[in-house]
Amino acid sequence: MPTPLPQPVTDRVGVVGGGILGVAVAREILKRRPDTDVTLFEKEDRLASHQTGRNSGVVHAGLYYEPGSNKAVLCRRGVGLLEEFCEQRGIRRIACGKVLVALDEAERARLNNIIERAQANGVPGVRIIGPDELRELEPHVRGVGALHSPSTSIVNFAEVTRALAEDAVGDGATILLGHQVVGIRPSSTEVVVTADSAGGSTEAAFDRIVVCGGLQSDRLAELAGDDPDPVIMPFRGEYYALKPERRSLVNGLVYPVPDPRYPFLGVHVTPRVDGEVLIGPNAVLALAREGYTWGKISIPDVVEVARAPAFWRFARRHWRTGIREMGGSLSKRRFIAAARAYVPELGDDDVVPGVAGIRAQALDSDGGLVDDFRISIRERVVLLRNAPSPAATSSLAIAEHIVTAIENGR
Ligand SMILES: Cc1cc2nc3c(=O)[nH]c(=O)nc-3n(C[C@H](O)[C@H](O)[C@H](O)COP(=O)(O)OP(=O)(O)OC[C@H]3O[C@@H](n4cnc5c(N)ncnc54)[C@H](O)[C@@H]3O)c2cc1C
Repeated sequence: MPTPLPQPVTDRVGVVGGGILGVAVAREILKRRPDTDVTLFEKEDRLASHQTGRNSGVVHAGLYYEPGSNKAVLCRRGVGLLEEFCEQRGIRRIACGKVLVALDEAERARLNNIIERAQANGVPGVRIIGPDELRELEPHVRGVGALHSPSTSIVNFAEVTRALAEDAVGDGATILLGHQVVGIRPSSTEVVVTADSAGGSTEAAFDRIVVCGGLQSDRLAELAGDDPDPVIMPFRGEYYALKPERRSLVNGLVYPVPDPRYPFLGVHVTPRVDGEVLIGPNAVLALAREGYTWGKISIPDVVEVARAPAFWRFARRHWRTGIREMGGSLSKRRFIAAARAYVPELGDDDVVPGVAGIRAQALDSDGGLVDDFRISIRERVVLLRNAPSPAATSSLAIAEHIVTAIENGR
């Protein structure tokens, strides 16, 4: 029996969100079915304004993720696709490598679990190294040992997004900037999307929509008639930047050994493709979903968090970490002290305030952090409900995964 051809992706597809994931999905649809009519709605006046343009820029190799999980599988596939795309498009990507530095014996023991996962995930070249080899790689970094991942690299994900958008538009996509989706009405025959823009309100009908709304993904899901859970908790990540004359303190990425109870990777030292070196990010609950400083407070956003039972269940479990992270946010000395544990020569005067980003982290109704990528596919509506790090790294593979699922009618 010949294998049946995949069902065509439907004719008119709406994509909500102009971060790396929405743009990658729009491009992937047109790559496979050039006759599809694709329209992407982005509420800001440029692409990659939120998480995609405000992150560490690390192309994660896939060290930490549970083997077989979406994160593990799509990260590994995504790395290959991203490397190929950057090569083809002449986008600067630097394979500067990464060390996960153990400060004591307990952390060194945890490296064994990480290397097992990394090897199960097929990450090339990972090795545990001793303090001498660590010093050869990173002369200013101290630790009792480290895990070295030579293939981990850095890139500018906003630049990648713009190049993906050029492909999508070149293949016929329409990208509507400054269009905020305010209504999503699925029926048995179509999905009607309403968007507000400076020019007024517009309505368009699609056969299918894919929602990649980042920090707004739970609100957009509810708008489309999906469950309110998981809710999004906005965790701000603040960075400092090394002064130019101190950038030589590191050669590559320097990370702590992650705390397995916590989803974030801890304050790390991150060179960027433009030569800047960042220290961060921490993780503090943001008082506005898109509030990049302490001064930006949205009362409705705060009330929404305070009303969510999931938040209080989460807070009961993690209040100690929350207080520690807030301390680091309010005190530069405490923030820098965390990085100085790895880079002893780092002084408080070596840094200036840097950028900040906000992670869209989904919380289940029991207060548990959703660890894996979560994609909900219901008839005509595909919703990306949890796409934290390494989703930028995995973006091209997530797009493949979503479009294949649509083609297979799942
Ligand atoms: C501090 C930080 C560090 C990180 N570091 C890394 C890293 O090193 N490597 C890595 O792989 N990942 C990293 N990540 C994660 C990565 O940035 C995200 O997983 C990825 O950018 C998610 O892309 P997205 O397109 O889903 O979201 P976003 O980039 O947030 O895009 C969502 C878009 O939807 C738009 N939107 C929302 N609501 C509407 C609406 N109603 N109508 C129209 N448009 C709407 C928004 O304006 C936004 O542009 C980091 C994230 C943060 C915050």
